[in-house]
Amino acid sequence: MKLRDSASLRLVLGLLLAYLCSAALVFFFLDYQLASTLTAGLDHSLSEERNLLQLQYRDYGTEGLYRAIRSEIESEGSQAHGFRIIDARSKTTYQAGGLSLPLVAQFAGVRQIEVESGDGRRQRARVISFPLGDGVSGFVASSMEPVLGLIDQFRRTFIMTAGVVSLFGLMLGLLMVRRFRGRIEAFNRHTNLIVQSGDLSGRMPVVGNDELSVLAANMNAMLGRIEKLVQGIHQVSDNIAHDLRTPLTRLSADIQVALGQEDASLCRSTLERVSVDLEKMLAIFNSLLAISRAESGGIPIKRAVTDFSLLLDELSELYMPSAEEHGLSLQADVAPGLRVYGNRQLLAQALSNLLDNALKYVPSGGMVRLTALSRDHRIEVAVEDSGPGIPDDMRDKVFERFTRVDPSRTIAGSGLGLSLARAFIELHHGRLRVTRSVLGGSAFQIDLPEVSEADH
Ligand code: ADP
Repeated sequence: MKLRDSASLRLVLGLLLAYLCSAALVFFFLDYQLASTLTAGLDHSLSEERNLLQLQYRDYGTEGLYRAIRSEIESEGSQAHGFRIIDARSKTTYQAGGLSLPLVAQFAGVRQIEVESGDGRRQRARVISFPLGDGVSGFVASSMEPVLGLIDQFRRTFIMTAGVVSLFGLMLGLLMVRRFRGRIEAFNRHTNLIVQSGDLSGRMPVVGNDELSVLAANMNAMLGRIEKLVQGIHQVSDNIAHDLRTPLTRLSADIQVALGQEDASLCRSTLERVSVDLEKMLAIFNSLLAISRAESGGIPIKRAVTDFSLLLDELSELYMPSAEEHGLSLQADVAPGLRVYGNRQLLAQALSNLLDNALKYVPSGGMVRLTALSRDHRIEVAVEDSGPGIPDDMRDKVFERFTRVDPSRTIAGSGLGLSLARAFIELHHGRLRVTRSVLGGSAFQIDLPEVSEADH
């Protein structure tokens, strides 16, 4: 990216422009204020001199007037002043000071007039004219050079300061732009690397805890999530390819057999087997779909406050006959009044999967126990059995799709029941894990947030 396209550089230049505009505004305002204040000061001292000269003329006549002018020149200096007295016929009767005034008629107030200094230079001066009586008029001029000098000095100082400040600001801004661009470029480098290599384990550099670091941390969290999802997709597609290959090959072989069958009844029985296999595959696909929807939070489920104790009691009653059929004793110890906020059907499905497994994997003569109690606003449910249990190293893996513990290979199953149960429980902000049970087999433990009377 070219420097002139940089958003941060444009920001710095924009700020500099805004600064220069406001500095110009302040400059014009101060310049105007300074000029008018200094000129007003000059005019004020001119009118004080006029008052003094008028008083002297009235009290002491011409002599008093000239004396007063001389003493003014003595105290104020002659260079910046000029005095002219004219008689009734506009003839100059007295002139003093370093500024020579042009011959003008008397006027009211103070005017700005060009005068000539002793060295012949023309310069601007404020001039006051006033009547003295008997047709005599006086003119007093005060040079504007000191005022103009001050204004000039102010202008130079202001422009120099603003220039230095702008230059310093620009340098600081450019330095910040360089640092900012460096960090953004590091982000770009990392994202390009991830895009090009396809390696989602790469992460953005997080330095400090400013906005950019927060952004980097969020991007890393997003990358982590994407990495997990992609891993999940890979795993699922691998599993599907692996686990559905055998049944599909079998189906294909069965169909070939059916097609070659002369005997209608043999053909029918082969097709019936095909139909059963297809049903199973359909069930697997449905479970897979339900798991991924639940894991991605993509199913809009209807939730309500559910009497969880009642649900567990109903399930234990439902499973009692088949437990007896399998030669197992099923015990239920459920605390009354447990309530959850969720979908009754999905919760029942998750628990049914656990009970189904217990009935499936615990050998005849064994025992299955369903317990539920409330602790610290959470409901703790356990489905325990005296069966073969789950080896320690398989306790996490067993919840992954298509995972089956080796000895169970002889028992029919898809390896999806526990994944589905965990996805449904997590959809209810709960947890499902497996440990060893005191009964000798496995203990599947669920904990779910409990709904108290006050909540709903
Ligand atoms: P399936 O039962 O269809 O194989 P599941 O996901 O329900 O799939 O279970 C995964 C694996 O966990 C099973 O294949 C089995 O090996 C093991 N398993 C599940 N429940 C139990 C249990 N109660 N006792 C022993 N092993 C179990």
